[in-house]
Amino acid sequence: MSRTSELQARQAAAVPTGVGSKGIYVARAENSELWDVDGKRFIDFAAGIAVLNTGHRHPRVMAAVAEQAQLFAHTCFHVASYESYVRLAERLNAWAPGDFAKKTLFLNSGAEAVENAIKIARIHTRRSAVIAFSGGFHGRTLFTLGLTGKVMPYKRGFGPFPAEIYHAEFPHPYHGVTTEQSLEDLDRLFHGDVDPKSVAAILIEPVQGEGGFNVAPPEFLRALRRLCDEHGIVMIADEVQGGIARTGKMFSIEHAGVVPDLITVAKGLGGGLPLSGVIGRATIMDAAHPGGLGGTYGGNPISIAAAHAVLDVIESEDLFTRATRVGARMRSRLEALAQEMHSIGDVRGLGAMIAFELVKDRKTREPDPQLTAAIVAQAEQRGLILLSCGVYGNVVRLLAPLTIQDAVLDEGLGILDASIRAALGRQPERAVA
Ligand code: PLP
Repeated sequence: MSRTSELQARQAAAVPTGVGSKGIYVARAENSELWDVDGKRFIDFAAGIAVLNTGHRHPRVMAAVAEQAQLFAHTCFHVASYESYVRLAERLNAWAPGDFAKKTLFLNSGAEAVENAIKIARIHTRRSAVIAFSGGFHGRTLFTLGLTGKVMPYKRGFGPFPAEIYHAEFPHPYHGVTTEQSLEDLDRLFHGDVDPKSVAAILIEPVQGEGGFNVAPPEFLRALRRLCDEHGIVMIADEVQGGIARTGKMFSIEHAGVVPDLITVAKGLGGGLPLSGVIGRATIMDAAHPGGLGGTYGGNPISIAAAHAVLDVIESEDLFTRATRVGARMRSRLEALAQEMHSIGDVRGLGAMIAFELVKDRKTREPDPQLTAAIVAQAEQRGLILLSCGVYGNVVRLLAPLTIQDAVLDEGLGILDASIRAALGRQPERAVA
């Protein structure tokens, strides 16, 4: 029995089924590679679900963690505060778009950041309704599940969800949903379901992560900004997956030149340590009374030290340019494959957030989740970690660390190519449209 199968059996006996996992047990990891407990090497195109933009164990991040651990590991910011928290807030306030005063609050997870952004929008506007989008993902707590627009595996069986959450159609040109149609859907919502004057916030991922790497058209984000201004609604950009240099800018919404009121961040910020934040307009962020925001661990000093090192690495290694280059390399390889393989219906994304959608037929664009699962499984056998996504589970997303070496990136793309071919070999190539 391999160590992996032994651990899989122990997990099945000790850990709930609901905690889904791939069944890979890691022994050690370095930049964009990891080795399992049986010594098998993997190239990591998942990066801990978009967390390791600076790679596994970046030496500067590890040194910052070790240094902080020598000083203090926890005090709770509400009990005994520390300068590093304030300085990280200052740095993120400076990075966030918008020519106005900003403030930042730190928390632990992406879901917690979204929850707090909604709390802040509600207390600021004294309104309760929140609008989110089809295909959006905002976390697994009950409010964020309510906001999420993807049933399986997230929502099924966990309701009822909180009231006053409304969903509008996210623009998805590949599936025939134009910006105009999405705006019409919002208009329908405002006339049929919820008074815009009761809406506290519109929450959007500028690039949907779990939903399938759908990029919101800039004109759509600009129209949302106008609607928010017109009705006094707080615009929240959920940058938990798309932020922290992943798309070639610190925040993905910067590509559209739109300035949101609040931004949620997590994942890449802590470089592997749990840390999230809400960054926003000072006048809105200050709406909550003292003690209304925070938590025991929010802005833990070790995570904050890691985040400073992450920002240092992004700046000194120019991971913005690197994200653009990594993304371009992935895209050109995938586009070449799409020319040849008609099961690849679409290649899309922004910066180093690139995905391809698998379809049974290019004309009908019927999703092919079975082929998607087969590609992910083939890749894993060959030593490449991939993640699927999309409301229909038929999208493969590539989220390599931005620090990945070109040779490892190319090796990973080669394995991807072979895995797609192998998966298709088992099911004959579909008819050409
Ligand atoms: N928001 C977005 C856009 C995400 O992608 C995620 C996680 O994937 C979350 C929120 C929730 O983050 P967490 O899993 O840290 O709670």
